[in-house]
Amino acid sequence: MYIVSGCLAGLCCRYDGGDNADERVMRLVSEGKAIPVCPEQLGGLTTPRPPCEIVNGKVMSNEGEEVTDKFMHGAKEALKLAKLSGSRKAILKARSPSCGIGRIYDGSFNGKLIDGDGLFAAMLRNEGFELETE
Ligand code: SF4
Repeated sequence: MYIVSGCLAGLCCRYDGGDNADERVMRLVSEGKAIPVCPEQLGGLTTPRPPCEIVNGKVMSNEGEEVTDKFMHGAKEALKLAKLSGSRKAILKARSPSCGIGRIYDGSFNGKLIDGDGLFAAMLRNEGFELETE
């Protein structure tokens, strides 16, 4: 069983109301081998919503609003689901401030990347999940 980013499974949960549908991930879900989850929606954020990036350890929208609490809450809820599912592996959307693995946007909203994990990815990593991007 895999935990997968909802947007990779074709759910329109992305900040701009779109998806990042990936056929391989969708196939895993349809075969009952993966559970889609969107930590940002679980945190109570709206869809669409302003794009957010991690700036000095805080999650900020491009409008200057701090949304760290919502991101943390959603990541914890998504982690609960991941643990309940019995899954030990996750396939997550690259570069997201929630789901990104190893490389995320640098907080400048200029498309530059730095080393680091999104909040949800970091929680899964701490729990020993095997992580990969799409
Ligand atoms: S939080 Fe994760 S699942 Fe939700 S839209 Fe962003 S990358 Fe996709």
